[in-house]
Amino acid sequence: MSAVVGIDIGGTKIAAALVRRDGRASHRVERPTPAGEGAEAILDAAAAVAAAVSERAGVVPVAYGVGSAGAFDEGGVVVHATDHLAGWLGTDVAGGLGTRLGAPVRVVNDVHAAALGERALGGAPDRFLFVAVGTGIGGAVVSDGRVLRGASGMAGSVGHVRIPSSRRRICSCGGVDHIEAFASGPGIELTYAEFTGRRLGLREIGRLAAGGDVVAAQVIRVAAEDLGESLASSLVAIDPGTVVIGGGVAGLGPLFMEPLTDRLRGALQPPFSEVEVVPARAGNDAALLGAAALAGAYDGAATPFG
Ligand SMILES: [Zn+2]
Repeated sequence: MSAVVGIDIGGTKIAAALVRRDGRASHRVERPTPAGEGAEAILDAAAAVAAAVSERAGVVPVAYGVGSAGAFDEGGVVVHATDHLAGWLGTDVAGGLGTRLGAPVRVVNDVHAAALGERALGGAPDRFLFVAVGTGIGGAVVSDGRVLRGASGMAGSVGHVRIPSSRRRICSCGGVDHIEAFASGPGIELTYAEFTGRRLGLREIGRLAAGGDVVAAQVIRVAAEDLGESLASSLVAIDPGTVVIGGGVAGLGPLFMEPLTDRLRGALQPPFSEVEVVPARAGNDAALLGAAALAGAYDGAATPFG
């Protein structure tokens, strides 16, 4: 039995599941993240979720894979973190969970993990740029099936590219006028509120746009076009051939994906303009599945995806 437990530690929830060699996930458990209670509390909660999975499944996992917000060094220590998880910076996540769970733990950034999940189960090719457009905009560069980690564990951070026009909007990272501040879910909601004076959630704006509301449709289209334009500059540096778009904003469907694709291709010359833009397919558990894949390889056991 070479079962691995994949764990996704997010700002609002911790999810874990048993992942078998064929990539099937089962015995999924999810709990709220004690995000404001400090790193030890988060590690305790993650270990409890993982233990609940193995108990339900009745197996002893050979390894654990973790995808988490933040950037990690090779040893699984947090080297960069935002405010979403209190006290996360400097935490030895691999060591702390390894001690609690009694098996090897491999830790990777959650967007990097989701990109691995897309490759393992979502049908993504060996080489692609993964872009997660949700509460923020994260990314990952996959080359020859491997995620590029980068010097600070943050390679692929395509959300923190500055847009050309000056609109004086502050990004979650503290920068000014980064594309994340405009094309993420909160960015789209803010733009809609600026135009209409109404504070609506992304889904509601999407519903209005789908129903023919001109302002809602325009706000979504412009955000998508800005993202396409912004991604074009990153794309020429890495020549990925395929861009996989995931995250909640991608769930708007053609309203978002079509203008993004058109603008991205239109901003490029051949051969870059031939780039394929496709929606993510591995679902909400992509990070958990990708982390499990990584843990299988790390442990020396057969990859959980055979
Ligand atoms: Zn930023």
